[in-house]
Amino acid sequence: MPLTIAIDGPVGAGKSTISDEVAKRLNILHLDTGAMYRAVGLAALENGIDPMDEEKVCRMCEVGGANVDVRYQDGKQVTLLNGRDVSSAIRTQEAGGAASAVSRYVAVRSMLVRRQQEMAQQQPMLLDGRDIGTVVLPDATAKIFLTASPEVRARRRMLQLREKGDQTPFEEILAEVNARDLQDTTRKLTPLRQAEDAILVDASDLDFEETVQAILSIVEARHG
Ligand code: C5P
Repeated sequence: MPLTIAIDGPVGAGKSTISDEVAKRLNILHLDTGAMYRAVGLAALENGIDPMDEEKVCRMCEVGGANVDVRYQDGKQVTLLNGRDVSSAIRTQEAGGAASAVSRYVAVRSMLVRRQQEMAQQQPMLLDGRDIGTVVLPDATAKIFLTASPEVRARRRMLQLREKGDQTPFEEILAEVNARDLQDTTRKLTPLRQAEDAILVDASDLDFEETVQAILSIVEARHG
């Protein structure tokens, strides 16, 4: 099995940007698995299906209405829904909420987990998500659980949204972070939790570079 790095953690811990940078420095590909759940959530919304309606969402997947795939362009992930590039369309609060809902369903998870495992078998990769160390890659070379306090995560999320011109108030973003944590940690199917052999990185008091370095040194210790 090629080098595999699993980075899990709650919403807003900076997983995506940190993972991007760590993968770049190690010269390996980064798979943001959340993007794949977002694409299924987006498919539901575009088809007028309530993401909370398990039966309809699963039927949509069964009939091939949510074919999610990933390809790489200059090392950057392009997320495809039925062959269409949805990399920007999935970055809304709405698609995030829909992703959190559809990620509770067995049919959705098994479809995406299978694809993620296939990709990680083909080349050295860093995967980030919620269940990478526990389910997708139980034998990953290095496992990291990246977290930060809800307030720090909400503040980071607010800055990201402001860059896009979104003026959602801080309190609303914090409430959304807490709601998503609750949904992700209490769902029946593979709830978000730290794998027993994962190393915790609490980035509450770390800046970007310090967080990247903390992860690189964990990978180095495991991989050499
Ligand atoms: O990481 P991101 O916020 O883009 O993920 C969107 C949603 O997809 C999460 O709230 C989570 O419910 C779900 N997800 C998951 N398993 C993963 C990645 C994301 O359940 N491996």
